[in-house]
Amino acid sequence: MSLSQVQLGLPEISLANLFSLSIASQKDSVHIQMVMKTSHVTTTSMPETSAILILPSILASQCYNDRNIPFAEEVISTELGHLFEHILLEYLCILKVAKGAKEAIFNGWTDWDWIKEPSGTFHITVDAGKDDESIVGEGMQKTIRLFKMILNQSQTIKSFPDQFSENSQLLLLSKN
Ligand SMILES: [Zn+2]
Repeated sequence: MSLSQVQLGLPEISLANLFSLSIASQKDSVHIQMVMKTSHVTTTSMPETSAILILPSILASQCYNDRNIPFAEEVISTELGHLFEHILLEYLCILKVAKGAKEAIFNGWTDWDWIKEPSGTFHITVDAGKDDESIVGEGMQKTIRLFKMILNQSQTIKSFPDQFSENSQLLLLSKN
């Protein structure tokens, strides 16, 4: 079943020509409906994605996908909603540990059905509930910022050539 804007009952976060998000918090989870507004719906057309994805352990995060491959490989060609989910999970873990938790584990799922809904529509669920409310907003903001950098990737690489050079990517991979 697809949830319309009205059913979710929350204001839409809309980033001009990039994507929109409708976020609904429940007791044990957060549901996000994402609608892409660019021509990109997967990372296949976005070759710099893993270079920009500079988060400590995201490429080593556990991922249950149809092809049964690690996220570091999956990210080269994956649906953008799935990428958004992994970025959000990573930030939630970072923020929870930063706030004093000894360890943090969050799980997520991303569904889509482009026969029933327009291509580029995703339904993302993350098991961050009311107890984690304080980090969800911040995690979402950070996720949106990084996701925008990935979507505008040629511009991002041009603006910060040193930060996203091949070397920094190798350094990142060797840490995992
Ligand atoms: Zn995954």
